Amino acid sequence: MDKRYTDYNSYLRQIFGCRVQKISIDAGLTCPNRDGRIGTGGCIYCNARGSGTGAFAQGISVAEQVVRSKVLMAKRYKATKYIAYFQSFSNTYAPVSILKRFYDEALMVPGVVGLAIGTRPDCVDAAILDLLESYTDPYLVWIEYGLQSAHDQTLRRINRGHDFNSFQKAVALTRNRGIKICTHLILGLPGETREMMLDTAKTIAGMGIDGVKLHLLYVVKGTALEALYLQGQYRCLEQQEYVDIVCDVLELLPREMVIQRLTGDPHPEELVVPLWSLQKSQTFSMIQETLVNRDSWQGKNS
Ligand code: SF4
Repeated sequence: MDKRYTDYNSYLRQIFGCRVQKISIDAGLTCPNRDGRIGTGGCIYCNARGSGTGAFAQGISVAEQVVRSKVLMAKRYKATKYIAYFQSFSNTYAPVSILKRFYDEALMVPGVVGLAIGTRPDCVDAAILDLLESYTDPYLVWIEYGLQSAHDQTLRRINRGHDFNSFQKAVALTRNRGIKICTHLILGLPGETREMMLDTAKTIAGMGIDGVKLHLLYVVKGTALEALYLQGQYRCLEQQEYVDIVCDVLELLPREMVIQRLTGDPHPEELVVPLWSLQKSQTFSMIQETLVNRDSWQGKNS
């Protein structure tokens, strides 16, 4: 076994027979946990950019963002096919007609073979899922629900603005439509023990979910989490601690679940701590090495 987990690039290569690259898109949408519908402060670790590039606000259309990134990806990775990844904020948080315009615009660009839509579990309904389902032939369609933790006490602590039940409902509504479901989990959330993180992994392992993104919680400037950290009320995971928990989580997840991400991706200029989070390739190697040392793999304990 080369990689001891089902990695996303290999999964895409298996389907399309070539290197497929994800292109991040900022469609200028917002989030109900920021615009006042649910809350105004947002999740405690989120800054005003909401993981966005700000491209839309700079007047760069969805199609133009795809075209520009395509040129770069083709050069850097020799990619020939692309997934349009609507990443910033909540990408189902708009009327269906507007969402359709954005998604259509991305899919019109030659070489785009699929969509990945990042959103909150409380931002979908049957009409939005009908729209996404309509693309599943011929496109690959993933929806990515931010869950972060299956523990309501943690979701309250981080000001998520939704509970675990809301995620369960979204998953039930999405099933049997040909839409692939990915879940985002964050390791190292305030107040969470290793047991709680593993408990979340066990919970999602039994829900028939197709993929997962594992994130490290890091502290970003200007967030409520930064204030907690500066008051000494939050401690980040150490690198080896994170690596060990990731390996524990992988062991609990079904072998066929696609691992789309193994750590966070901080902007160096926005990061407060931990600085080791910038050493992504070192973290990847440590995960691989730990699995080898344990003679372990994804699904070993599922
Ligand atoms: S749901 Fe996402 S965009 Fe909205 S506040 Fe939380 S992290 Fe930020």
